[in-house]
Amino acid sequence: MADLQTEVQFLKGVGPRLAETLAAKGIHTLQDLLYYLPFRYEDRINPRSIEQLQPGEMASVIAEVRSSGLFRTRKMPIFELVAGQGRTRLKCLWFRGGYLEGRFKPGALVALYGKVEFSTFGRGGLQMLQPQFEILHEPPAEGDLPLEGEEQQHFDSLEVGRIVPIYEAAGKLNARWFRRAIRRALESMPPEIGDAIPAAIREHLSLIPRGQAFWQAHWPDAGESFADLQAARTPAHRRLIFEELFFLELGLELKRRKARLQPGIGFKLDEKVRKALKKVLPFHPTAAQKKVLKEIVADMQHPSPMRRLLQGDVGSGKTIVAFEAATVAMQNGYQVALMAPTEILATQHYLSARQILEPAGYRVVLLTGGLDPQQKRGVRRHVASGDAQLVIGTHALLEDNVEFDRLGLVVMDEQHRFGVLQRMKLMRKNSDVQPDVLVMTATPIPRTLALTLYGDLDISVIDELPPGRTPVSTRVLDDTRSEEVWEFVRKILAQGQQAYIVYPVIEENEEKDTGLKAAIKMYNELRKKVFPEFPLGLLHGRMSAEEKEDTMRRFKSGELKLLISTTVIEVGVDVPNASVMVIEHAERFGLSQLHQLRGRIGRGAAKSYCILMTGGKVGEDAAQRLDTMVQTNDGFQVAEKDLELRGPGEFFGSRQAGMPSLRVANLVRDRELLELAKREARALINGETKGIPDEEKRAAAEYLKANWNRRYGLVEVG
Ligand code: ADP
Ligand code: MG
Repeated sequence: MADLQTEVQFLKGVGPRLAETLAAKGIHTLQDLLYYLPFRYEDRINPRSIEQLQPGEMASVIAEVRSSGLFRTRKMPIFELVAGQGRTRLKCLWFRGGYLEGRFKPGALVALYGKVEFSTFGRGGLQMLQPQFEILHEPPAEGDLPLEGEEQQHFDSLEVGRIVPIYEAAGKLNARWFRRAIRRALESMPPEIGDAIPAAIREHLSLIPRGQAFWQAHWPDAGESFADLQAARTPAHRRLIFEELFFLELGLELKRRKARLQPGIGFKLDEKVRKALKKVLPFHPTAAQKKVLKEIVADMQHPSPMRRLLQGDVGSGKTIVAFEAATVAMQNGYQVALMAPTEILATQHYLSARQILEPAGYRVVLLTGGLDPQQKRGVRRHVASGDAQLVIGTHALLEDNVEFDRLGLVVMDEQHRFGVLQRMKLMRKNSDVQPDVLVMTATPIPRTLALTLYGDLDISVIDELPPGRTPVSTRVLDDTRSEEVWEFVRKILAQGQQAYIVYPVIEENEEKDTGLKAAIKMYNELRKKVFPEFPLGLLHGRMSAEEKEDTMRRFKSGELKLLISTTVIEVGVDVPNASVMVIEHAERFGLSQLHQLRGRIGRGAAKSYCILMTGGKVGEDAAQRLDTMVQTNDGFQVAEKDLELRGPGEFFGSRQAGMPSLRVANLVRDRELLELAKREARALINGETKGIPDEEKRAAAEYLKANWNRRYGLVEVG
């Protein structure tokens, strides 16, 4: 008998080579394999007849191969398959489908899944474009699990006459392979699979046993609701999703507790500090800024280490809040590290800090990778001696040779660019006490999600923009109208305001004509032909730190009127006098990215305009993104739409953001179960759940410990 911890290479038919392919998918043990749930199901109990198909629907059809072949069009080769049921037929097309030649033998039975539409090629009728397919009856193909005689028959019945699970392929391993391998794994397992969720919790939430859940999620009964299956809402799914989220929350809660117990710094907030705080404020803070500052300072006064996330839309004024927090620390005799994701942003913070904090007597230094070695050494000496009070920088701050004298506060701007590990590394720079940590982000994450993503952080939100802002007016224009756009920009510049023009790439690709306009080329063209009367600047990621800094400074001072740039200005750049942004090839940018870019304008009193120029084909998703930009300026609405269009994995950039890697749960779809899991995890830790024997608690803790790293890809739990 196998068990959950059995390595997957020992499953019959797998072996070390395939085990490697599986490992790349995070599948090491049989338990991992069982958590590899189908991403959809096909109803092959009642397969659809071709006659009843309706254009526009997603459908799965089982039919016989009649003919197939490759034909060439002017643009590309297209592979055509004609499949039939009796006298009705359905055409399937795959663009550039040369790889399919010889795959479909006449008479073979295939399952096809795809969107049904009216035929665009040939003689009318219905077709599917690029359907997913599976050949059902034929000698085993490459990538099949090898089977013998009787076993073959047993497994053949897995593909038809039932609800069939469809798995994402992994390399050569197709859905059919997974179906068989998982079936084999389930059959090799004892009926009772250990269950780490305490029985009392299982009972009051009516969760089905784990073993049963595995079986039914992979091989649903014929009577199971098809809609529930596709939505991952069957009892089996709920049970597995809850389990995953429950242990995640349990781990995060324990981590949070542990962090609280570590020795930190209790900063003092006396009259002297209050006075210093007032002194550095260049304007009246908004009510929201006051509120979050109060929360932050309260944390700082408390002797346990602060772990706080400061969330606020672009332009909401997080920087000054950070400077105020820094002032508290510096007044108490501690150093502050402020880390930014890009050199430009670090430089920008450095320039503001010098403007705001240096007149008050604080010593500010900049440490980025772009400095020459000698400069770096000089800065590091000032940091180590404690002479530098506020150290602003990029990843360079994390290098081992950077040592602080008395690091008391760490501020991280735009957290979504940093991994949790880096966060931990920086915090360890002060060995005897834990410095306070403030993480700032402009990604407006819904609260429940934030609680999980940043499960060990408390959250403050700036939900108000500084006064005097008028919403940016946004338009979408085809780039055939660029003459009009340049005319408009010229008018704005003539009025004394400044503008950005953003491009998706730095340089054209010489070998491949991508048809994309590039920053360098357009800079030259605009400078010579379109705006010869205005001083233009160029900014992109391949310039040296000094060049970038110099350009930014000249744009900020108003010497340069127009900045031609790539997305390097996406985060943080702050020039209130810039009131127009033109983004070329806007269809190429992601929604959050467009929002971040647009956040660079609308910071001053003048009415601001964002012009999204499209050049080339605008797909359906791109059109929705552009439309959202026109409809709203609200970061939360933009984020919700982005989440909807991209799904959570891509939205958060998974591990990069310190995002747990989840196998069965989906943080957006399963928000409700997430809340439930959080409540139950807390109750368990607080000892509020009745009737849980100690040994079950121990089992849960052990399960957590054994699975934390591998399951969630997060930092070790204590
Ligand atoms: P973000 O939250 O995107 O980092 P910033 O901190 O860069 O925003 O602030 C955006 C702009 O708003 C800056 O020019 C800043 O000086 C200004 N600002 C911030 N707070 C206020 C305020 N309370 N009143 C007026 N202007 C403010
Ligand atoms: Mg900022």
